[in-house]
Amino acid sequence: NYKRVYNFNAGPAALPLTALQKAQAELLDFNGTGMSVMELSHRSQEYEAVHNRAIELLKELLAIPAGYEVLFLQGGASLQFAMVPLNFLTAGTKAGYVLTGVWSEKAYAEAQRLGEVFVAASAKAGNYCQIPALAEIQYNVETAYLHITSNNTIFGTAWQEFPDTEAVPLIADMSSDILSKPFDVSKFSLIYAGAQKNLGPAGVTVVIIRRDLLEKANKNIPTMLRYGIYGKNNSLYNTPPTFSIYMVKLMLEWVKEQGGAAALYQHNRQKAGLIYDVIDGSNGFYLGHAQPAARSLMNITFRLASEALEKKFLEAAQGHGFVGLAGHRSVGGCRASAYNAVPYESCQALREFMLSFYKEYA
Ligand code: PMP
Repeated sequence: NYKRVYNFNAGPAALPLTALQKAQAELLDFNGTGMSVMELSHRSQEYEAVHNRAIELLKELLAIPAGYEVLFLQGGASLQFAMVPLNFLTAGTKAGYVLTGVWSEKAYAEAQRLGEVFVAASAKAGNYCQIPALAEIQYNVETAYLHITSNNTIFGTAWQEFPDTEAVPLIADMSSDILSKPFDVSKFSLIYAGAQKNLGPAGVTVVIIRRDLLEKANKNIPTMLRYGIYGKNNSLYNTPPTFSIYMVKLMLEWVKEQGGAAALYQHNRQKAGLIYDVIDGSNGFYLGHAQPAARSLMNITFRLASEALEKKFLEAAQGHGFVGLAGHRSVGGCRASAYNAVPYESCQALREFMLSFYKEYA
């Protein structure tokens, strides 16, 4: 017997119930091995089947074209902030960063420590409530790469279309919206995402990289920071986070059962719509942070008239079984993260709660 809450955590976040149940059922004896996946050798056939199936499912569900590798790394998306410039920001070149929130600022700051970078566009002046127009982004054919953050977890904005950078490699941090909708992977040279929001549990970071870049990357850096080493060894150069990868596989099986990225997109639009509708219909009682045209389907950010009222809202929400609705500690306010595995019912319950709180306090 268990009681599940309405989990709106920003990450680690909700996982599909069926994936958790499968892990539970297999915990003591995985596939007749007499042990859990945690206890398997990463060199065993049984583990390798899990590992390869997770890669295969990601390729299928994201429609990753031939010529790309899927890698499993550790260190979170934050390590990618350093690995990207270490591998691709060679002396004499400059990389462009589009600043759309806290995480892109962090990626930029890390790259700044390692090489020459410039701000290709920034939404900071408007307190990150929108995404710069594609035409505003400054870069040229010499640019080492252009880095973007597809979804801004803290401010609740998302790119609605991606630039065509042609010969300039486009690199994206998709930690908070990967697999939430179909998109054209071939526009990107490298995509990275911490798994703990849309793909599974914490502990593994997925990197999708064009194979030719594995060769072009800087080789004069520590072994464990080279994409090429992961590529050459199928992410088994050393011990990978086996249990996290196993959970990613279970979550991807669930995604496939749901109908893949296109079905999740419809679902995610409906889920986020339930909450944005309340915000838009509240006469300013709930103040959405993102400009409507830049709204994220994953992180719905809003404020109330005062911090005291926000506190009351969050306390009342907690009493009704909602978890994770406080905004990021750096910005305050409220945030509902409705990632892939957050059920429609949770969003519906939040909608009802927001409506009744509005009726009581407006
Ligand atoms: N990028 C984005 C867009 C994020 O949302 C986060 C985490 N919230 C990070 C990077 C940092 O991820 P990690 O904790 O895996 O290093």
